[in-house]
Amino acid sequence: MKAAPFAYKRVHSVAEAAVLLQENGEQARVLAGGQTLLATLAMRLSEPALLVDITGIAELKGISVSANRLRIGALVRHVEIERSELIARHAPLLALAAPHVAHAAIRNKGTFGGSLAFADPAAEWPACTLALDGELAMSDGAKVRRVAAKDFFLDLYRTDLQPGELLTAVEFPLPGPDRRFAFSELARRHGDYAIVGLAMAGNVAGGTLDDLRIVYFGIGSTPRRATHAEAALNGTGDSKEAAREAQAVLAQDLTPTGDLTTSAETKLHLAGVLLRRVLASLLSEGGST
Ligand code: FAD
Repeated sequence: MKAAPFAYKRVHSVAEAAVLLQENGEQARVLAGGQTLLATLAMRLSEPALLVDITGIAELKGISVSANRLRIGALVRHVEIERSELIARHAPLLALAAPHVAHAAIRNKGTFGGSLAFADPAAEWPACTLALDGELAMSDGAKVRRVAAKDFFLDLYRTDLQPGELLTAVEFPLPGPDRRFAFSELARRHGDYAIVGLAMAGNVAGGTLDDLRIVYFGIGSTPRRATHAEAALNGTGDSKEAAREAQAVLAQDLTPTGDLTTSAETKLHLAGVLLRRVLASLLSEGGST
């Protein structure tokens, strides 16, 4: 199948993009890496009249650190995150997750902002952004609006982005010396979207856990923070009992929806398996399993 005919405009500023988006409303779509959008056009799941190509907007590119914040431009590609020294130092959770995002060819083109704007419930970046307490910046060409990750992902493929707005960047607080990160996901084949995945961040000082952020993906319509499990683990250390307790309360945090291949019960079971694995990794050195 081929895409329906559409007009194409490459822009060089956020203001230029915003004008086109506002003038054309529902008929216009932002084109970033194209790794999701072009497939939906080819399958005629979407038939926009105009594609606004934002890849020429310089201010949406680059990874930088200033004033205790790490900034990732919306157009930063998955592969740049995978290879960045700044990311490895200041947001190692993203470096751990990057190899799980699709396949190398897609990571070469797909963008951080595109993944967050699309908000696939099984995607890695939305969950990591929530686990890292990220703040998303959006612009309508005139003013910038900032929204915490916890308020950005609203429902299945639905975010707080308003018509006529572009996601421009995401900022993260720099982690303190005790902060550790761990990540894992279960997928049918490496590079497939996750059946269930888990991104975890927490302080480990003197063997004691604190300020945990446990975020699941692939288990509901948006990334899910497991606050009951966090409460069961905060203040504990390498304790089998605490891990069992956290696993027992997961059902209060997660209400998985089954999909074509995996039932809701199986997803909840797998979430528990991941919790034990990822927690063990966090308590050792942090890393991916
Ligand atoms: P595009 O395809 O260009 O755009 C996606 C959507 O976001 C569009 O609606 C577009 O209008 C909107 N958009 C893009 N940028 C902005 C912006 N700055 N502001 C506002 N709206 C914007 N992803 C995963 O996370 N994990 C996987 O395992 C995974 N596996 C994949 C496997 C395959 C075979 C394929 C084809 C894709 C897979 N993906 C996966 C998706 C991939 O990561 C995409 O790159 C990503 O979801 C979208 O980024 P993009 O830059 O390509 O966006």
